[in-house]
Amino acid sequence: MLFDTHMHTTFSTDSTMKIEDAIRKGQEQSIGIIITEHMDLGYPDSNAFQFDVDEYLTTYSKFRRDDVLLGIEIGMRNDCLQDNRDLVRQVEVDFVIGSIHVIDNIDIYHESFYCSHTKQYVYSRYFEAMLECMKCYDFIDSLGHIDYIARYARFSDPEIYYDEFAEAIDAVLKIVVEQEKALEINTRRITDQKSIDLLMPIYKRFAELGGKLVTVGSDAHKPADIGRGLADGMALAAACGLKAVYFKERQAYYVK
Ligand SMILES: [Zn+2]
Ligand SMILES: [Zn+2]
Repeated sequence: MLFDTHMHTTFSTDSTMKIEDAIRKGQEQSIGIIITEHMDLGYPDSNAFQFDVDEYLTTYSKFRRDDVLLGIEIGMRNDCLQDNRDLVRQVEVDFVIGSIHVIDNIDIYHESFYCSHTKQYVYSRYFEAMLECMKCYDFIDSLGHIDYIARYARFSDPEIYYDEFAEAIDAVLKIVVEQEKALEINTRRITDQKSIDLLMPIYKRFAELGGKLVTVGSDAHKPADIGRGLADGMALAAACGLKAVYFKERQAYYVK
């Protein structure tokens, strides 16, 4: 069974999707789903993107089954390392994505992150922050959306060209390999062949460096997006010689 391993429902600050609708969309496509609610401890200036994980697991326990799994997407930052480590240790989730959403206490989504800096500087800082976190966050299962910054960067061409940032990207990929973690193929930015061609060198390089596993997820915040790009993501993994997995009770299982 294919799995969409990344999506957000009402426990995430930025989603109003009901779990019942997510389950229905999964069933319609005969795919498994993993809910991965946002948990960004230390989120700048507010308690946004944080939720009560016990309440989440209790409320959704009645929905939990082999093809409806409950995970969490942790916002990685070094000043919250211990709190995140304690949290993940205490909760019985199926899957933990580690993501970079905030750098130097500024949400990457915000325009202020890009003010008065060049793309070269900002992207280098982004990969550097990812590298620093990946060295310490040894308790996650998959590194989320390595291309996240390209969603929001306010540059005329926000694309990540592997060759332009090869050294910085390689450093991140090597740590993921060393830590034996999966690398996510986030299908949100997979819209056409060009977007696949741009991501391909990153995942090919991951395989070259010894990477083996990927998780494929849509990052859906609404029902219509569930399963979107899953086939393309699976094809991308296969083309790079990577195996797609999903996680249940923190164990990796091959997606077949
Ligand atoms: Zn994310
Ligand atoms: Zn997400």
